[in-house]
Amino acid sequence: MTATRPQPRPGVLAIDAYVPGRSSAPGIDKVFKLSSNETPLGPSPKAIAAYNAIGRHLEDYPDGSASDLRDAIGRVFGLDPARIVCGAGSDDLLNLLARAYLADGDEAIHTTHGFLVYPIATLGTGATPVVAPEKDFTASVDEILKRVTPKTRMVFLANPNNPTGTYIPFDEVKRLHNGLPPHVLFVLDAAYAEYVRRNDYEAGLELVATSENVVMTRTFSKIHGLAALRLGWMYGPAHVVDAVNRIRGPFNVNGAAIAAGIAAIEDAAHQERSREHNTEWLEWIFEEIGKLGLKVTPSVANFVLIHFPQDKGRTAAGANAFLMKRGLILRQVTAYKLPNALRMSVGTEEANLLVMKALAEFLGKTK
Ligand SMILES: *Cc1c(COP(=O)(O)O)cnc(C)c1O
Repeated sequence: MTATRPQPRPGVLAIDAYVPGRSSAPGIDKVFKLSSNETPLGPSPKAIAAYNAIGRHLEDYPDGSASDLRDAIGRVFGLDPARIVCGAGSDDLLNLLARAYLADGDEAIHTTHGFLVYPIATLGTGATPVVAPEKDFTASVDEILKRVTPKTRMVFLANPNNPTGTYIPFDEVKRLHNGLPPHVLFVLDAAYAEYVRRNDYEAGLELVATSENVVMTRTFSKIHGLAALRLGWMYGPAHVVDAVNRIRGPFNVNGAAIAAGIAAIEDAAHQERSREHNTEWLEWIFEEIGKLGLKVTPSVANFVLIHFPQDKGRTAAGANAFLMKRGLILRQVTAYKLPNALRMSVGTEEANLLVMKALAEFLGKTK
């Protein structure tokens, strides 16, 4: 049968489009956006200066291979720049990896509350997303390995994961890798690696360096505070880097992102300030929410997942509306199969205090 109008490829219409965190509240002038895990400290002043300088030469194409940025990343992490690819956010790289390695009928595994970009990228290629259950809101290596079939081509794992904030130790990451057939590409998304303070955690640099089927993705959107510029990078085996370089847009990273990214990655002091702020407030928020009698999943990232009871008047949806009226924007995570939870990014001192006060009021525990 001939279609009467153009039809997208199989899988595309099965995608639920990604809904970003809200940035405004109806009728409220001053809002605190704690819905997208952005840094409350903003970018390095050096990155802002580098960004501004680019404004004088907007007529020039950027360097299509982002060489200076890859060199800078390579220096900071001790990596071969030839094995780095930059992208317009790590979203760009996750989609490019899916496009390069998945086709109709293939399968790609992610976990129940895994980052939503994974199923979106998978479906867009005509492949099937396969969901591995989590335990205590944490990825389970056994459950992932159980779902490997002859059709499996990729495994996506955010470590730590968004929106749960949980991680698996590096031993477990290695056990997962050891259990995968060599033709399955293991994508380790380490968007929040900089925030993790655990001795048993590693982002995966060493694993990539010593394997032919592991890629690590990183972002400038979180600790570096450059979400608006859309910038991420991946580190992978030479043959994967080659494949991605063939299909990426020739100028997929813009000039402002390259300039600001170099300044940001080199500003270790600014990153340390952001990390310190996060460590301090993450702990405080975790304790305060516990005192309110709400469950909160232990997080190693820059956000927490808060669980609400289902009784009337105290639900996550009710809390969200209550906070929204006060200009406090958290993230509803129903699309992540967490209808009874809200995700709160660690904010400024002012924002964190306001949320705790408002939550206490919402629960009738005014202090
Ligand atoms: C925020 C986030 C990213 C970063 O996405 P960008 O496209 O680089 O802004 C990647 N992975 C996870 C799990 C995230 O939460």
